[in-house]
Amino acid sequence: MIIILLGPPGAGKGTQTAALAKRYKLTPISTGDIFRANLNDRTPLGLEAQNYMSQGLLVPDDLTVRLVDDRLAQPDALGGCLLDGFPRTVFQAEELEKVLAKTGRKVDRCLLLDIPEKELMARLTGRRVCRSCSSVWHLNFYPPPADLICPLCGGEIYQRADDEEVAASNRLKVYLAQTQPLAEWYEKKGLLTSVAALGSPKEVEMAIEKALG
Ligand code: ADP
Ligand code: ZN
Repeated sequence: MIIILLGPPGAGKGTQTAALAKRYKLTPISTGDIFRANLNDRTPLGLEAQNYMSQGLLVPDDLTVRLVDDRLAQPDALGGCLLDGFPRTVFQAEELEKVLAKTGRKVDRCLLLDIPEKELMARLTGRRVCRSCSSVWHLNFYPPPADLICPLCGGEIYQRADDEEVAASNRLKVYLAQTQPLAEWYEKKGLLTSVAALGSPKEVEMAIEKALG
């Protein structure tokens, strides 16, 4: 089973990915997390991706597709997977089909987290995340502990560079121009399920479960 989670930055993809992966026993694969882990470790991939990420731009398709191709071939990815943040362009979606076909797999469903655009900037700029386990907080809606130490893993809670105003607003523009067309692309294939994502994390999780049946 291959499920894609699609939606603008700030829609709650990361939060829902963690919940759904657990519930449906799927391996979560987040390209953003993989790039950030590489950046933390100062790998060549991380350093190359950094220039794009910090500006809120997409990492080039060839680099991203190669990364996902490798990741999907690993043993823990051969069962079910939940893809968060990939594909993000029509080209990536087409390449994903080819990558999956190599092992006789295909995308089973694309879940679109649907949320009014005007909510997104506040969600992004107030967001704080754990450097180690990627858990998410929000300064207003779900404040992190005062010592900024992750209660789940002891990691450092910080603000992603691309959640600052300028980069965050770039990411929204990039989403509208390059990623949003994917919703129609999956719709035409009969694979799109749209879920309202304005409620609390728990409410959205329940709406997704209902939509997945
Ligand atoms: P969000 O969904 O909150 O914008 P992500 O953590 O998914 O954040 O991604 C952060 C950044 O990582 C993106 O802005 C982009 O630079 C890079 N990135 C992640 N996934 C992809 C992808 N599929 N293609 C290109 N770049 C990506
Ligand atoms: Zn943590």
